[in-house]
Amino acid sequence: MKNILTLLVLLSAPLVAFAATPELRFEPLADNVQLLHIGKTDVKRYETKACIVKFNDFLALIELPLSGLGSDMDTIPDHRSDGAWLRDSLRARFPRRKLRYVLSSHWHPHSVATFQPLLDDGVRFVTTRSSFEIQSGMLNNEERERYADQFIMVDSSGMTIADDANRIDVYRLARSQYKALPTEEFLFFHLPRQEVLYVACMFQRLQGRKIRGHEVVSPRTEDVGSFIRNVNIAPREILCLYPFWDGDRSAIAADTLKHLLNNCTLYSSLQNEVYDAVAHRAGAEIRKDADSLIAAWLTGEIPLSILNRSAYQLANEGQLPQALELARLQAMILPSDPNSWDTLAEMYFYNGQVGLAKYYNAQCHRVDSTFKGGSPEVWQGRIEEIRRDGDRSQN
Ligand SMILES: [Zn+2]
Repeated sequence: MKNILTLLVLLSAPLVAFAATPELRFEPLADNVQLLHIGKTDVKRYETKACIVKFNDFLALIELPLSGLGSDMDTIPDHRSDGAWLRDSLRARFPRRKLRYVLSSHWHPHSVATFQPLLDDGVRFVTTRSSFEIQSGMLNNEERERYADQFIMVDSSGMTIADDANRIDVYRLARSQYKALPTEEFLFFHLPRQEVLYVACMFQRLQGRKIRGHEVVSPRTEDVGSFIRNVNIAPREILCLYPFWDGDRSAIAADTLKHLLNNCTLYSSLQNEVYDAVAHRAGAEIRKDADSLIAAWLTGEIPLSILNRSAYQLANEGQLPQALELARLQAMILPSDPNSWDTLAEMYFYNGQVGLAKYYNAQCHRVDSTFKGGSPEVWQGRIEEIRRDGDRSQN
């Protein structure tokens, strides 16, 4: 295997060297702040953006999104050649200021997708302990040791990078408080002088879609709103990772967020409707009500992804029979979706019905043979976790 890998590396080396580099576009955003638009590459099918913050004699870069991937991958490659190219491009563009910090909001590669070329240049990476556990997959053991001092792990007290030219306040968010975070910990970056807040993939506006006559925002966006209220800041603009969440504008006016949250149908309230209809009820009763529940959800324009999400919420809370009943309803409403059968299989497993779990797992793959669902091994680990959490909350 190793020989084949070596051969592949050798064969691909010239390809990497000549691969087209992405287009870079620098856009002034405010005093001493520029957006860096990074065009499509072989590993990223859309433009992403980073934020360059200028201090007196150094630069900080918020994010280094050389990849477009979120959590949907098995390994985290260090995109070293693109990283070296970007490092050199910044050097050429800002000859008087050296890049000193790269700030990473979370471990997804669409936040930061390279370490080594910049570590080698003395750059320090600002991240969190739980994110780094995963991000460190980009380095080998020897590199992890060699560069250990160049990683700054932000904890609940946050951190600030400042001189008399500029200031970045780093806030750490934890999933125990902000339920919609896609990762255990997450960093937001506030530029108080420019009144800009960088929130990465936490702003998601689902444009063109209305529920009950109003736009709906994702739970992540609701969390952005809560965060701004909780820490009592007043940004004028919100920066997000994906241009496509809000047309192709670079920054979203905070007023837009406020307006959205005041006028939209809240995703969380829709989720509560589904949750409240089944939580803490006897399985037989839920089954008796199946027709009226389905009718209420369909005529009430409940996004069907909420059924799946609520089933997992119930399971995580140890409400296993209720989670199973909800998964059954989901499979009745959406039999063409392989995920319905995957969830049903999992909920049967949690309820100790392993035979049915296997049957529906196979059904999931009959609907879509390529679907990447769960497996008894994965479910076994999760049910043990759910039981442990249940024991903890009883003690
Ligand atoms: Zn993300």
